[in-house]
Amino acid sequence: MSEETNEIKLSDIEFRVLQILKEDARMPAAKIAKQLGLSRVTVSRIINSLRKKGVKFTIEAKDKELVAFVVTDSCKSTECYKTISGDFISLIRSNTLNEIENELEKIKPKNVILARSLGKRFVRTSLYCDYCGGKIESEPIIYKRGKKIYYACCNACLNGLKKKLTKLKD
Ligand SMILES: [Zn+2]
Repeated sequence: MSEETNEIKLSDIEFRVLQILKEDARMPAAKIAKQLGLSRVTVSRIINSLRKKGVKFTIEAKDKELVAFVVTDSCKSTECYKTISGDFISLIRSNTLNEIENELEKIKPKNVILARSLGKRFVRTSLYCDYCGGKIESEPIIYKRGKKIYYACCNACLNGLKKKLTKLKD
């Protein structure tokens, strides 16, 4: 087997920056710097080095499948826009038409456009173990295999993951 495999070691400070980015991958370097008492330049350098190591801070989350754009006279959802003419457009997202219809009954909208989501959004998220699927609460074990990065929550999962990946290759 010629494929390169290794575990990535993070320094203490890289780990602390990653902890913040795990919760909010869009947080600006300046804000992270303030939280950790570092300079913005230092934080930018750490983020670059994390990227070079192949550590990903955003995880693609599948969007809800359906979205209703609902015209109302006040904001009726956590995702809401005000039109130039003074109406509101509230977005209602769900995977089932039934759920959307239930919401619409409560809202009694002026107009509705129902649409299907085209793909994925990047959302704030946490790290999950690639073996057991559990949420990783402490330091993740980062495992690089070829170009892919995997996360494990513990050594047992890391070993399981390695075995599983080896089997898949055979
Ligand atoms: Zn696990």
